[in-house]
Amino acid sequence: MSNQQPVDQNTSAREQMWREHAALIDWKNPFTSVLEYGDGARLPPPFARWFVGGTTNLCHNAVDRHLKDRADQPALIWESTEVDVTRTYTYAELHREVVRFAAGMRSLGVRRGDRVLIYLPMIPEAVFAMLACARIGAIHSVVFGGFASMSLAKRIDDAQPRLIVSADAGSRTGKALEYKPLLDAAIELATAKPEHVLLIDRGLAPMTRVAGRDVDWAPLREQHLNADVPVEWLESNEISYILYTSGTTGKPKGVQRDVGGYAVALAASMKHIFYGEAGKTYFSSSDIGWVVGHSYIVYGPLIAGMTTILYEGTPLRPDAGIFWQLVEKHRVKVMFSSPTAIRALKRHDQALLKKYDLSSLRALFLAGEPLDEPTARWISEGLGCPVIDNYWQTETGWPILATPDSPGNASPHYGSAGLPVFGYDVRLVDENTGVEKGINEKGVVTIQPPLPPGCLQTIWGDDKRFVQTYFETIPGQLTYSTFDFGVKDKDGYWFILGRMDDVINVAGHRLGTREIEESICSHAAIAECAVVGVQDALKGQVAVGFAVLKDPTLAVDMAARMALEGEVMSLVHQQLGAIARPARVHFIAALPKTRSGKVLRRSIQAVCESRDPGDLTTIDDASPLDQVKQAHLGA
Ligand code: ATP
Ligand code: MG
Repeated sequence: MSNQQPVDQNTSAREQMWREHAALIDWKNPFTSVLEYGDGARLPPPFARWFVGGTTNLCHNAVDRHLKDRADQPALIWESTEVDVTRTYTYAELHREVVRFAAGMRSLGVRRGDRVLIYLPMIPEAVFAMLACARIGAIHSVVFGGFASMSLAKRIDDAQPRLIVSADAGSRTGKALEYKPLLDAAIELATAKPEHVLLIDRGLAPMTRVAGRDVDWAPLREQHLNADVPVEWLESNEISYILYTSGTTGKPKGVQRDVGGYAVALAASMKHIFYGEAGKTYFSSSDIGWVVGHSYIVYGPLIAGMTTILYEGTPLRPDAGIFWQLVEKHRVKVMFSSPTAIRALKRHDQALLKKYDLSSLRALFLAGEPLDEPTARWISEGLGCPVIDNYWQTETGWPILATPDSPGNASPHYGSAGLPVFGYDVRLVDENTGVEKGINEKGVVTIQPPLPPGCLQTIWGDDKRFVQTYFETIPGQLTYSTFDFGVKDKDGYWFILGRMDDVINVAGHRLGTREIEESICSHAAIAECAVVGVQDALKGQVAVGFAVLKDPTLAVDMAARMALEGEVMSLVHQQLGAIARPARVHFIAALPKTRSGKVLRRSIQAVCESRDPGDLTTIDDASPLDQVKQAHLGA
């Protein structure tokens, strides 16, 4: 492999930095320029092209290039507490399985540039399928296995896949969750029809096959046991995948990513943020259907030569110690999870954290939702290792904000998502004027283009929507908006205050729901909560809280509930002032969330205002929304 780059005397510091990071991956042909942006570029800003002219391949970088030094090292460990199986694949075995999968897909007509939709549970074949697509230059679009037919159909129509890879069933808390009937219904609903459906039969549920269309993987694999499929060398800016955003705020957007920039960003972030180290073990409890799963279950850890754990199961089964049991068993060095998962554990005995030898663990990374300070402290003290909040989006593919590793970082800024990550020019601006904000002033978190490598190139099939949605909302400038509010303290640490949609206006005062949520969560009895603004004739809006108790028996009767509600309200009053005092705090058994674990504040708000809660195709479980209704409207 060649890593030689032409010398350019005028390279800016930014380009020099990315040139150095680019040496972390293999290139078949070197790139001719680090960045193509602005004057003379093929496309006008905000479109950017990284490592132009270079050819590389994600599968080569994640798998093939490690065969020389670590063929016998475990690459992928599948742990399923759903079907009670552990399976280990060395880099050599992973390579063989990926090549077989690539050969199988080719035999079904899949070619470079074709889309392959992957609708699979957390099984090794999902990883094989993703890497096989990368190998042959097909564009994968992984759709989270929990989505129902309607959501799936929309994504089929948008991505227009030639092939869909799926399975008979997933499993949740030990019960089979059928996929095939949902898939059949989705294909029925969709206008675009795949030529073939490739099926992994796990033997969990009966399947009916559509003749001519549906193909079983096991016999096809047999036909390609000794296949040889060389990697396709792709120009850095060709498309690696499409991934739809979680849809918390409406119609999901097909985030489109490149090949070279993504590989470089992952390699650099593994090295400089995530304590990546070849030969060590990495465990992310996310799902391959989300961006964390793409970047930091599959591609990132493998590019870094680590052993990655693919976990099929919940954080609570067989008990709330399962994460830590896996950390001990595999001597995990780095773990990545979500605040939602940790808050779920918080409702259980902290002794479970002390039961296992966690001395291998260097850090726990959490992302996806604001990490409240009490939860951060609880888990950091329990694990005895740093807990690192990091803030990013499906769109960016890797962290925008994170706490850097520094030996002197003795006092973690809990509640802060950290500092801007290298490569990101992050700015806080006023959403109405575009003027930059100062210390301790709230503003919208924006990124000055060009976006760094690894971030979305565009929205699949809709360049116009890409520019309009992300770059044309701040007056007077072409700036990427995250649509999140934030604030920066005097030390330069950033705090994410919540989505722009979630800000409420009480008697002319703008309050971030997150601040009130943090305050409510600081009450010892509360496990998690959501705050929304509800219309009020007098004040415009009032804050209404919905809280989940660590111990639900604390609110069995009306008197106990009222006493607790009073306590929580005065706590908020004390901490944030009278204006932030919620009008009500209701206690419910669970919060309505998306399947990615994000609280559906907009739907809660709609229900409280007797409006239609909107598109609920991404909701995890509808019953908490009924509880919201019951609690607030008594209906
Ligand atoms: P959609 O854009 O379709 O509504 P989504 O925004 O929920 O979906 P993601 O890209 O998965 O989809 O989530 C990114 C959002 O999650 C961020 O914009 C932010 O609101 C929130 N988020 C992620 N990490 C953090 C964090 N560390 N702290 C606070 N908020 C976070
Ligand atoms: Mg979003």
